[in-house]
Amino acid sequence: MRPLTSAPTAGVGLLLTVLGHSVGWPFVEGGSAQLTDALVAALEVGRGQLQTGWWIRSLAELPPSKAVLLDVTPRQLLALAGDRLSGGYRRAMERFRYGAGICKVDFALSGPVPWTNPGCRQAGTVHLGGTFEEVARAEAEVAAGRHPEFPYVLVAQAGTADPSRAPLGGQTLWAYCHVPSGSDVDMTPRIEAQIERFAPGFRDLVLAKVHRTARDQEAYDPNCVGGDIASGAQDLWQTFCRPAPRWDPYRTPLPGVYLCSASTTPGPGVHGRCGELAALSALRHSFGISEVPDLRRLAPNQGPAPAAC
Ligand SMILES: Cc1cc2nc3c(=O)[nH]c(=O)nc-3n(C[C@H](O)[C@H](O)[C@H](O)COP(=O)(O)OP(=O)(O)OC[C@H]3O[C@@H](n4cnc5c(N)ncnc54)[C@H](O)[C@@H]3O)c2cc1C
Repeated sequence: MRPLTSAPTAGVGLLLTVLGHSVGWPFVEGGSAQLTDALVAALEVGRGQLQTGWWIRSLAELPPSKAVLLDVTPRQLLALAGDRLSGGYRRAMERFRYGAGICKVDFALSGPVPWTNPGCRQAGTVHLGGTFEEVARAEAEVAAGRHPEFPYVLVAQAGTADPSRAPLGGQTLWAYCHVPSGSDVDMTPRIEAQIERFAPGFRDLVLAKVHRTARDQEAYDPNCVGGDIASGAQDLWQTFCRPAPRWDPYRTPLPGVYLCSASTTPGPGVHGRCGELAALSALRHSFGISEVPDLRRLAPNQGPAPAAC
């Protein structure tokens, strides 16, 4: 999500490469909703209740409680808290920076992508861009506020690991490329051209497709400000001081109110660590519990967890 000349990008690349080679990049069998369902089941075992479809516009709407954990970015925290936040913390939240957006396309295909490179036919995730110089140029263009003609494209083909994702013989595929923040440009033709470049015949397999511009992405999930799926620019400063330089980045100055989103350290990704660390902070400061039980023991005892492919 950053120009390749900026400081932490090599570190992030190295980390993801090591993870890819040591444990792989998992897909959840049956689709990512299975993971949500497993989390909800664990919540219910702990006698928790989940309520969805309720858009929160102010902290005042929330029922009284010892702790509130907000899965939002600093911009929404400011809106939710209104004038209850002031001083240095408010200014720090206002200074929080967001990064580039994405344009994403979902495809239904009549068969597997005919990648020229046989290795790509087995990979769950394929990063397309040509040479290093081409990828660097594309990312530099996005950082300069332009839409690259030959974008770097991230392609996920879960069907290579999980055949249940599509009817027999078919394939599902999604791909995105980076675009300037707030873009409403549909990059589908450029994304398709990049895939076709490395997999001639790809276009003939497309049964259906639907795209989401960066602006659509924010409308779908307001945590993606300007289409930024990282919930905030991950430059060197915001990698370590996220969302602001604080000993406990999850606590806000409002009593019992915590931030638990990817706008906190250790940042974006589906690792769940931001939520875990925020929960530990809430247990410590709002409930006086510092000895935390092994949360995994609370997991529902109803058969195996959804398999990661
Ligand atoms: C297309 C795509 C591909 C990605 N690929 C990867 C990947 O391969 N690997 C990886 O590790 N990460 C990936 N990510 C990033 C990862 O999904 C995010 O970093 C992660 O989901 C952030 O988690 P979060 O809980 O902070 O926020 P979110 O997952 O965005 O959840 C926040 C939730 O809060 C809701 N919400 C916000 N405000 C309110 C409100 N006022 N009232 C009620 N509800 C509200 C939102 O609707 C949303 O459901 C990807 C993201 C996208 C979009």
